[in-house]
Amino acid sequence: MRKVCRYSLYAFLCIFLFAALLYVDFLNFCRKSVPVLAYHRVTTNKDIYSMPPEIFEEQMKYLRMKGYKSISLNEYIAGRKEGTAAFDRNIVITFDDGYSDNNRVAMPIMKKYGYTGTVFIAIKYMAWPGYVTWEDVVSLKKNGWEIGSHTYNHVALADCTNESLEKELKDSKTFLNNFDESFNVNTLAYPFGSYNEEAFSALERNGYVAAVTGFDGVNTMDTPSYQLYRVNIFNDGRSVGMFAKRLTWAQIMGWARSWGIDPIEIRALLQ
Ligand SMILES: [Zn+2]
Repeated sequence: MRKVCRYSLYAFLCIFLFAALLYVDFLNFCRKSVPVLAYHRVTTNKDIYSMPPEIFEEQMKYLRMKGYKSISLNEYIAGRKEGTAAFDRNIVITFDDGYSDNNRVAMPIMKKYGYTGTVFIAIKYMAWPGYVTWEDVVSLKKNGWEIGSHTYNHVALADCTNESLEKELKDSKTFLNNFDESFNVNTLAYPFGSYNEEAFSALERNGYVAAVTGFDGVNTMDTPSYQLYRVNIFNDGRSVGMFAKRLTWAQIMGWARSWGIDPIEIRALLQ
């Protein structure tokens, strides 16, 4: 009987030690990886893409409390090249489509917490009701934001012909840079998260340094720069709890990948 007890104790200690080692490894991974948050609107509209301003502010407050510092995608890419950046508590805050509330609502809130963001503009929508004007874009840039492309016509790149793919990437970039070359547009968010191999070579030809997908996860030194993961933040009517969970989930996904386990592939195999 005493023998059984002793073996049970050893087994318990082994499991405890193994769990502690895994947890330390996870914390280490979090310190060396960069979450890229994906938002759309910050407004009181009642849909999943519209984050109410007061909830958005709670989320920024949470990041600040956790010690996160915002960087741009360009800074993340430059940090990888230098090979020295540990990315300790760095985060990229991005907004898709180019809504005017990014400048009028999100930017002032983020400023209070010392954060800047990246806005991916779909050129076709510029100055439509609710979308950014040149004035908004200039204001965002002046306040330290990164200006990125979301293609010209907000199209799924995997469905494009080679010719239209080239045009979408080239025209959106030059349209913004021709207005003000200091915009230095060289990053992209894939509309509908759609991309393929051809998109990678077109991005390279057109001088893009990074592109973000719609897949949940976080980014390390080794994440392919045209397939960066994001943390999709939706408005589900709840406050900071959902946000914290989504961030942790993306970190767990990234950590699993660092061990060669891809949760997306496993889910696809099980279906
Ligand atoms: Zn979009």
